Parts: sequence; structure tokens; C-alpha cells
Amino acid sequence: MISAAKARRLNLISKRCIPWLRVLLPFEAASRRVLLILTSMIVMFFGAPGCDRSRPVAEEFTLEGVTMGTTYSVRYIAEPGSPPPSELKALIDIELVEVNRQMSTYLSDSEVSEFNKSPSTDWIAVSLQTAQVVDLAQQIAETTGGAFDITVAPLVNLWGFGPVQGLHRLPTASEIEVAKASVGYARLAVRLDPPALKKSIPTLKLDLSAIAKGHGVDRVGMLLSENGILRYFVEIGGEIVTKGTRYDGAAWRVGIETPRREQRSIQAIIGLSDASIATSGDYRNYYDIESHSYSHTIDPRTGQPAKHQLASASVVAENCALADAIATSMMVLGPDEGMRCAELNDWAVLLMHRQDNQIILTCSTQFAARFPEVCKSNWKTE
Ligand code: ADP
Ligand code: MG
Repeated sequence: MISAAKARRLNLISKRCIPWLRVLLPFEAASRRVLLILTSMIVMFFGAPGCDRSRPVAEEFTLEGVTMGTTYSVRYIAEPGSPPPSELKALIDIELVEVNRQMSTYLSDSEVSEFNKSPSTDWIAVSLQTAQVVDLAQQIAETTGGAFDITVAPLVNLWGFGPVQGLHRLPTASEIEVAKASVGYARLAVRLDPPALKKSIPTLKLDLSAIAKGHGVDRVGMLLSENGILRYFVEIGGEIVTKGTRYDGAAWRVGIETPRREQRSIQAIIGLSDASIATSGDYRNYYDIESHSYSHTIDPRTGQPAKHQLASASVVAENCALADAIATSMMVLGPDEGMRCAELNDWAVLLMHRQDNQIILTCSTQFAARFPEVCKSNWKTE
């Protein structure tokens, strides 16, 4: 089967070259065949007029796979000397396996799982990448007043959203208090040189799910750059990093979903180049008990799933780990506090909240400056 990218490429070639081939049409079939052979030979040696040889046709490839309980897709423009697609795909898979080995809480022997199991309050050595991700997470925790908190793991498990099986019922107030006693980003220290983590209480546990996917996207992007690729689009489960432009020189196009549980549809399309976007929402990972919805974003301050009308947060930032962490922070803070925090920090944030069966879009100043077409005044959708 021919991929969409390949089809576009062929279309591009034919659009540039076919008008010139039309000069053969007035000739009889036999003469046409002879002329075609002759002209093909000329084209082979000198190139076709109308086929602009100084502007080589961009070759776009698509690679797909699975990771982190979801799918990934990579689109890129090959450069002279860049590895063949199959080789790149193998390198990407190795890189993603390594991210999981470092940061997954679903692998019992990952660096983070080993740290979680250890009761030691001494420094525990980790890879530089894990320390860097934890360092960024701690900065966002500070900036959001603890709304973003990677030590939230005991509460995530208690509410049934982590690797440990939940209770199949709502936790009691005292169970929440017990879990909360082991939570708090101030009880975690991180050092980059040599890279290590340290807990101040033996029961502290980390959950990097709100930032690791974004980091994984950044890692794949860096890998492509290291392999000489200058133009790419990398996506893991909706978190995206873009570099340069598409095969046709336009910005990469990214769809932002309408946050509805029932159906999938696109609310807005933006062009991205040299930037990342991450989206968090309450409409994919949740459960309902007695007409109440419980979503996977936990407010560490209450120990409970966030309760407000914010349905989704999309964040554009210079790297995807940052965008991912900010998007989760918005889901904890809610539409009002979240937007205040975004404005204070000059973050590019698009929030969608529910009001009387409608979805209301709100853009931060930074988001509106970059994507004015999305942020028309009083955006509402049924
Ligand atoms: P998704 O995984 O759907 O992209 P997020 O990036 O928002 O969504 O990550 C949600 C996950 O982050 C939860 O499933 C949980 O493991 C973890 N988490 C929940 N609440 C918090 C929080 N307050 N701070 C940091 N991580 C959290
Ligand atoms: Mg996140």
C-alpha cells in the first residue's frame, strides 16, 4: 500500500513534470513511443525542463509504533545521508524502551520503581535524564504552589488510576489522609551532578506519568536531530514536538480535540514549527460512580480527583516535557486559578471548560498572540 506521504510526493513530482510531457501528445502512438524513449534518455542525462532540479522534492516518511500504553507516530523529511527508515525506527524503539526503563511505574524494575521500593532516605543514583525530568517537575511544583506534584503516587493508586489495582469503591476520608501523609514535593530532593534522588520519608513514591510522555517525545526529537534530520513531527498519545516545516514548506498542522466523552472531533487546527504541544483532559481516563465522575488528575491539596468544569488544557511550549507538566497543572488548578497561573508565567495555554452543555474556550495572552485565529472573542461550541 502507498502511504499518504508517498502519494503526496508523487503528486508533487507529477505536477512539476507532466506539463512538459504533454508536448508528445500530438504524435502518433508509434512515433510517440520512439520519442518517449529518446526524450527519456535526454532526461536521464540532462534532467527534465519544468522539473526544478535545484529544488529537490522533499521525501517525507512516516514511522509508527506503540509505547507507554499508547501509540506513537513520527513524520520526517529525509536528509542526504540520514539513516534509512527501518534503521531510524529501530533507534526510536530502543530510545523509548530506555525512557520506560528509567521512568515507568508500570515496570517493577525501572529506576523510578526501584526508588519507590527503597525505604532509604540517602541519595539514590539515577540516570541524568531521570534526574533532569524530576528537576523540571520540581520547578513546576514550585511554580504551581504544589498543584503539580510527582509524589502524588499513593493517591493516584488509592483512586485506582495507577499501576496498583484500586479499591473498586471510593476511598474513605481516613484512607485519603493516610495516603496524603506520604505525599509532598518538598519531601523530595534532586541533584544533577552526580544525578540522584533523595526522599525525606521512607514511604515517598514518585509518579512521572504527567511528564514522562512529553519527555519521551522530546527524546525522540533529539534522536532525529542527532541523526541529521532537520524537519520532523513526533507524537506520542497526543503529545507533540515539531521541528522545521512539512514537505511542502508549511508549518506542521496539529488538531486540538473538542473535549467530549461521546465523540472525537477537532475543535481547532494550529500550525506549529519548532514548538511542542501537550493536552490533558478529563474526558478519556475517568470513571463514574453514582452519577459522579472521577478523573485521573488528583489535587494533592485535597487528596481527591480535581473537581471543576475544566474539560481540557492544551499548552504550547519550547519542549514537550514542560508542555505536558503545565497541561496537567492546569487540570488540577481549574479554569480560573489555572488561567491566572498561566498569565503570571506567560504560558501559552488554551483552556476549554463546560458551562450549561457548552464548551467555552479561553486563551492566555501568550496563546492568543501566537494563534489569534483560534482565540476569537467569546469562543463557544455546543
Ligand atoms: P495523560 O496521561 O492522559 O496525558 P496527564 O499528562 O495529565 O494525562 O497525566 C495524568 C497522570 O498524571 C495521572 O494518571 C497520574 O498518574 C498523574 N497525576 C495525577 N495527578 C497529578 C498531579 N497533581 N501532579 C502530577 N501528576 C499527577
Ligand atoms: Mg501531563
